[in-house]
Amino acid sequence: MIIARTITEAREALAGRSVGFVPTMGALHEGHLSLLRAAKAEHSLVAASVFVNPMQFGPNEDLSRYPRPFERDAALCRAAGVDLLFAPDYDQMYGGCVTKVTVTGPVAELWEGAQRPGHFDGVATVVCKLFNILKPQAAYFGTKDLQQCSVVDRMVVDLNIPIELRMLPIIREESGLALSSRNEYLSAGDRETASSLFAALQKAETQISQGTPIHDAREEATNALQRLGFVPQYFAAIRYPEMTPTLENREATHLIASAKLGCVRLLDNVSICSN
Ligand code: AMP
Repeated sequence: MIIARTITEAREALAGRSVGFVPTMGALHEGHLSLLRAAKAEHSLVAASVFVNPMQFGPNEDLSRYPRPFERDAALCRAAGVDLLFAPDYDQMYGGCVTKVTVTGPVAELWEGAQRPGHFDGVATVVCKLFNILKPQAAYFGTKDLQQCSVVDRMVVDLNIPIELRMLPIIREESGLALSSRNEYLSAGDRETASSLFAALQKAETQISQGTPIHDAREEATNALQRLGFVPQYFAAIRYPEMTPTLENREATHLIASAKLGCVRLLDNVSICSN
């Protein structure tokens, strides 16, 4: 596996070849590895990136303490059959850069976009730059970050970027907790409680599929989460990929939720099976 620190090195290693690409911020877990395995199964050459992108963090977020176990990440990439690991520093990615990519409308402005102003500008900009640097044929994303999938999809369509996007399912712990690099911040007690977010989503999904009004299912779920010590930020039924909210059971494609537990912001979603 080649570890490329510069754009020139990465481009030289991949020039003219058909590549499956997995962008990450590192602290790799089974969720990331599932994307790498899918890329490996579908492409003879696989590239991954590890870059903790400052532009997608808000001023009061966890940029400085975000885990950066680079040697472990590199070993996991190597074991997963990654051919090129692109791990640039800030200057490589942003030195002199005064351009940003902004996706507008509900796709980027609701939910995570509202909770984290500027977040999706950071995501769209870094993903656009990574696509232009590595020129992959396909890129792999997890639906754990469902709105991110929608934002990237919209950007690729609107900017006519010639790439195939693959959006893959959420990998969870046995408890149901969606794997996330940020789960490392959870205390042992909170880690047990954290799986209740998925349980609340699943219960609401069952109720909505069976005809309970979305409003009632949502109310019950947010009350239950609050009783357990969560501070819900949103819990909503939406239409994907538009990301617009709906109270019509037959229109909703996903339930999305974000809630704080202690100082950790958890993010999860389920698809609505009946639709
Ligand atoms: P991150 O390192 O958090 O930027 O994530 C890199 C990619 O891994 C994104 O496409 C995420 O959606 C995806 N990902 C993160 N957690 C999971 C998970 N539990 N299951 C599947 N994909 C995931």
